[in-house]
Amino acid sequence: MTAAVAAKTNLLGLDPQALVSCCADWGEKPFRAQQLLRWIHQRGEDDFAAMSDLAKSFRALLAERACVVQPAVLSDHVSDDGTRKWLLDVGGGNAIETVFIPEADRGTLCVSTQAGCAVNCAFCSTGKQGFSRNLRTDEIIAQLRHANRALGQYDGDSTVAGNRRISNVVFMGMGEPLQNYAATIAAARLMLDDRAYGLSRRRVTVSTSGVVPLMDRLRDECPVALAVSLHAPDDALRDRLVPLNRKYPLAELMAACRRYLERSPRDFITFEYVMLDGINDADAHARALLGLVADIPCKFNLIPFNPFPDSGLRRSGRDRIRSFASILADAGIVTTVRRTRGDDIDAACGQLAGAVRDRTRLVERSSSVPPIAELSRCA
Ligand code: SAH
Ligand code: SF4
Repeated sequence: MTAAVAAKTNLLGLDPQALVSCCADWGEKPFRAQQLLRWIHQRGEDDFAAMSDLAKSFRALLAERACVVQPAVLSDHVSDDGTRKWLLDVGGGNAIETVFIPEADRGTLCVSTQAGCAVNCAFCSTGKQGFSRNLRTDEIIAQLRHANRALGQYDGDSTVAGNRRISNVVFMGMGEPLQNYAATIAAARLMLDDRAYGLSRRRVTVSTSGVVPLMDRLRDECPVALAVSLHAPDDALRDRLVPLNRKYPLAELMAACRRYLERSPRDFITFEYVMLDGINDADAHARALLGLVADIPCKFNLIPFNPFPDSGLRRSGRDRIRSFASILADAGIVTTVRRTRGDDIDAACGQLAGAVRDRTRLVERSSSVPPIAELSRCA
């Protein structure tokens, strides 16, 4: 990026309200912001000169002071099952991953919110790479914009709602979205805005490992569907699997779920539960979960563990998962077992590693750590 571009405002990073303020600073009326939203997000336009319904003088001002820039694409892989994964360069040795999962009745985009993650869950490849930095709003929304572009969404007349390739967005890529709260909700607001991506609140899902105070803020400021990564029925085990549990133990997490439901666009919480052989997958764990979530309308999504080198963990067997699922289902809880998608391109949950310059733990891991380029693959 040239120095001149760097000094300009990247309009991709402005949520609808920020775009209105920015236009006001330039002496422009709010409807200019609406026009810009449509051009940039709905039509995927980068070039101000092509924004034909803007006054020429405004186009000239934009060319001088603003830009629409998204991260470069480092790679683009399509799995045998249609799952597609992009690696985007966010600079400074960091790359992030975005995954598109096509299904018969919907298309889901899984977006990243951080380069790496500081929560460091025992079973997560992203966590094992440590934390590098939060993504900015432009870097989060660029994932959706890029995917739309790559999937042909901006070609012809396919922006009409019924013809959407991407109907759902899940914040389940790299990073803990609620530890990058401001950028996450700014991006979510763009996703929800009819002039930008127009997704329904029920089809935008934030997944969290349980940052309790920010679950409350999300509920108040931008309620969308919520998934909570549970993984254990008691504090002793969850402390080991999800270290954040030591700060926000299960009783507090469950209370936050109940509060969230008061304003949630969906009338249930999705609990994600990674199935780890011999660790959290016994029938007794399933029965204990029933007690834990007794007064929380919820669904369970069991995720067979996706292995990565040196995790020291194994995926639960098929029969074990079936038995576990039927205990939950027999108690009346809708329970699904996540189909592993994109295995062949390392696009499955928890395999999203990108290439993260680990500034938190790389040093501790001594000289046996492979160079950054080799960290980009995790299986
Ligand atoms: N940080 C957020 C969102 C990103 S992780 C969170 O933890 O919820 C998205 C989901 O992938 C979480 O439910 C997480 O527990 C799961 N996951 C992480 N590593 C995994 C692995 N190796 N196998 C299966 N699921 C994994
Ligand atoms: Fe972070 Fe989520 Fe991975 Fe835990 S599972 S380390 S919170 S990305």
